[in-house]
Amino acid sequence: MAKITNIRCIRTRVNGTWVIVKVETDQPGLYGIGSASDHYHARTVISAVETLAPKLIGREAGNIEDNWQTLLTSGYWRNGSILNTALAGIDMALWDIKGKEAGMPVYQLLGGPCRAAVPAYAHAAGNTLQELEDDVRRYMAEGYPVIRCQLGPYGGGGFLSNQETTRPRNAWAHDRSFDDEAYLTNVPKMFEYLRDKLGFGPKLTHDVHEHLLPHNAVTLAKLLEPYRLFFLEDLLSPEQIGWYRQVRQQCTTPQAMGELFINPHEWTPLITERLIDFVRVRVSKGGGITPCRKIATLCEWFGVNTAWQEGGDNDPVNQMAAVHLDMVSYSFGIQEENHFRPEEYEAFPGHAVLEGGHLYPNDAPGLGIDIDEERAAKLLDPERAARSLFMAEDRRADGTVVRP
Ligand SMILES: [Mg+2]
Repeated sequence: MAKITNIRCIRTRVNGTWVIVKVETDQPGLYGIGSASDHYHARTVISAVETLAPKLIGREAGNIEDNWQTLLTSGYWRNGSILNTALAGIDMALWDIKGKEAGMPVYQLLGGPCRAAVPAYAHAAGNTLQELEDDVRRYMAEGYPVIRCQLGPYGGGGFLSNQETTRPRNAWAHDRSFDDEAYLTNVPKMFEYLRDKLGFGPKLTHDVHEHLLPHNAVTLAKLLEPYRLFFLEDLLSPEQIGWYRQVRQQCTTPQAMGELFINPHEWTPLITERLIDFVRVRVSKGGGITPCRKIATLCEWFGVNTAWQEGGDNDPVNQMAAVHLDMVSYSFGIQEENHFRPEEYEAFPGHAVLEGGHLYPNDAPGLGIDIDEERAAKLLDPERAARSLFMAEDRRADGTVVRP
C-alpha cells in the first residue's frame, strides 16, 4: 500500500488550459496523473486542487472510494464545475496509482474489457452543404462509425446578417444575430441534403449547442425525425432539461445531453425516467472515474448509453480516462473524438491511439499514460497562459445573449 506524500498541478498547452494533477506517494517512483483541465478557469482549478491536497497527505492512495467521498464533502458545499474538476484530477491519479500497484491497466481493475476498442465520432463541418458533404465523406473514408454534422461555426445555420433582421434603432454592436426560425429552416434542410446524397448508411449526429428556445427545440427534434439521427446533442440548456418530456412525447429522435452537467440531480432524472438516450458528462466535470463509473452502471439498468464528452479543449489524460470507462461499460454508446498536435502527443507518452475512427488504450499498468514534464513545460507560453479566455458570445437581434 502507498501513502500520499504530495499533490501538485502541472499547467501545460500553449495557452495553459490543460491542468494535469500529479499525486506522489511514499513508494519509490510510484505516482499517478489525472486531468483537471478547464479551458476558462485553469487557475481557479489549480487553487482548488491546492486547497484540497492537505486533506489527503498521509492517507492511503488505494482507498479511492473513501478518498473521493471525503474530499467531496470536505468543504461542506459540494459539486460545481471547479470542485468536480479538482476532485477528478486527484481521482484519476489514484486509479492510475492503483493500477500500477496491481500491475494492471485500469480497465482490467474495472472488470476487464467488454469490447475490442472504442468507436469514436468525428466532427464534420462546412460553410456550404457541398463543403459539409465532402467533410463527411472524408471521415467516412477514414472509418469513423458516427459523424457529427455542423453548418459552419458554433450555432451555425441560425445566424442572420444585420440586413436580414429587424433590429432596434439603438441596436448594440454585433454583426450577426442568432435566429431560431433560421435554424429550424437550415438544419433540417442540411439533413435532407445529406440523406439525399449519402443515403441512410452513415450514422449522423448534430449538436444544437443549446441555442434554441425550449419550444423551438421540441420542434427541431420533431422536424429531424425523418432523417434518423444517431443522436441530437445539447438540444436544451441544463436549466431547461424538464422539456425533454415534451421532446419524448413528440418524436423518436434520440437525445444526447450532459456535457455541461456537474451535479447528480441533473443526470439522474434524465436517465431513470429514460428521457435521454446518451449521457454526455465530461469525465473530469463529473468528478472523475469513480462517479462516472457509477453513471455508466446506472445507464445500463435503464437502457441509456454513454457518450463521454471530449471536444477540442480537453487533454489526453481525460481522453484516456474516458477510454478506460468505454472499454468496460456495457452501457457504452460512442466516444466523442479528440486529437492533438504532434508536440502535444509527445508530451504524453502512452496516450490513447486514434486510428480509423477508433480509440485504443494500451496494456501498461494504470491509465497507461504519463506526462513528460520537460516537454509539457516547453508547450506552455506564459504570456498566453496569463490571459483570460471567454466562451463565444452569440446574441439575438434585440441584443439578448444566447446561452451556450
Ligand atoms: Mg455538445
